[in-house]
Amino acid sequence: MKYKDEIKNRLCKAIDDKSDQLIELTKSILNNPETGFKEFQTSKLVSDQFKALGIPTIENIAITGVKGVINSDVSGPTIAVIGELDSLKVYGHPHADKKTSAAHACGHHCQIGMMIAVATAFKVSGVLDYLSGNLVFIAVPAEEYIEIEYRDNLRKEGKIEFLGGKPEFIRLGAFDDVDIAMMTHTADSNQPGKIAFGGTNNGIVAKRIKFIGKAAHAGGAPHDGINALNAANIALSAIHAQRETFREKDTIRIHPIITNGGLAVSSVPSEVTMETYVRGASIEAFLSASDKVDRSLKAGALAVGGAVEITTLPGYLPIKSNETILEHYEGNAKTLVGENNVKRLTHRTSSTDMGDLSQLMPIIHPYVVAATGTSHGDNYLVKDYELGVITGAKAMAMTVVDLLMDGGELSHKVIQEYDPPLNKSTYIELMRGMFKNDTFDYR
Ligand SMILES: [Zn+2]
Ligand SMILES: [Zn+2]
Repeated sequence: MKYKDEIKNRLCKAIDDKSDQLIELTKSILNNPETGFKEFQTSKLVSDQFKALGIPTIENIAITGVKGVINSDVSGPTIAVIGELDSLKVYGHPHADKKTSAAHACGHHCQIGMMIAVATAFKVSGVLDYLSGNLVFIAVPAEEYIEIEYRDNLRKEGKIEFLGGKPEFIRLGAFDDVDIAMMTHTADSNQPGKIAFGGTNNGIVAKRIKFIGKAAHAGGAPHDGINALNAANIALSAIHAQRETFREKDTIRIHPIITNGGLAVSSVPSEVTMETYVRGASIEAFLSASDKVDRSLKAGALAVGGAVEITTLPGYLPIKSNETILEHYEGNAKTLVGENNVKRLTHRTSSTDMGDLSQLMPIIHPYVVAATGTSHGDNYLVKDYELGVITGAKAMAMTVVDLLMDGGELSHKVIQEYDPPLNKSTYIELMRGMFKNDTFDYR
């Protein structure tokens, strides 16, 4: 045990030695936010870092994804340390891109910082010979499920099939060589402690919706038109009317936006587009709620005598972290930030595509509570970069040591005990089964 602690100390020291550069690099990503499947500069920054560390690198996976591989013991298990490349879009965020409103309002810049910190530690500390397994570092695009129209067009062009980064990575086989995966997210101070772990997340499907009406003079001849905006309004009310049917335990969340509400105020809106998510704690729960949303959308079109096109797109699956790995992670986190600052989470109604991976392999997805403000808000700001990059990276590096030292005994135990709900082919089949394209025309 003492020997293992010494290895962990060497890794932590390697991270501390580079802390200034690592934090500077992280802040450079903050100041250059890019949304999903467009993270070209962030992707280049990651591959440049891997190459500088002498890590063999594969680029352009799912457009902007990057993967670096350190083979230490090819016959042993492979652990992936993941970072997410993309930003969100939030108006008025202090670090938002002036043109695109892209902003790191979810703290993914720190994830990339942590991932590079872990890679640096293993590469420069000389501990690889003590590991019975391999490490891959994966920078994944497009965790935030946004710009659905843009991504759906990428899908139609054949550039992607699924609209999230990890589902695409899974489909492309970029996780085929991975046995266990981990990443650390940032969180705001509404979360407990300094490091929070465990818990579950909602899964999700997304929808693109187009109401079709008929243009006419809005003042002179509205009776000749079909008002697509009224159809959308009725549909929104009908969705709200479903809410009393949702059970607490299913934690359904539905939050539509109107992406185009009309073209000219003097003309009856003939085309109105919306996007929505339908989230729930289980696959069954969000698919059942998704059917109710479809009925509500049809009701809007029916009421005005218009039409509605509904495209349902697979999103993300519910997450479940691996308890055996979490036990070790918790111990490491307590060593770093103190017993009382490490807290267990319950259920979160947000979603992440780490959920998809958790259906295929053992994963952990803890949080470093390094930000203030509210997640996805214009005031979400990472304040504690020491915690958000340096400490978060150390906790992962130490957990990798637990998994891969002693002949990789712990990894083998975790892999053996894990009963995957899905495998790659049943996963892809499930996801493809969620695609739906329906038109209901009452004109
Ligand atoms: Zn987010
Ligand atoms: Zn996030």
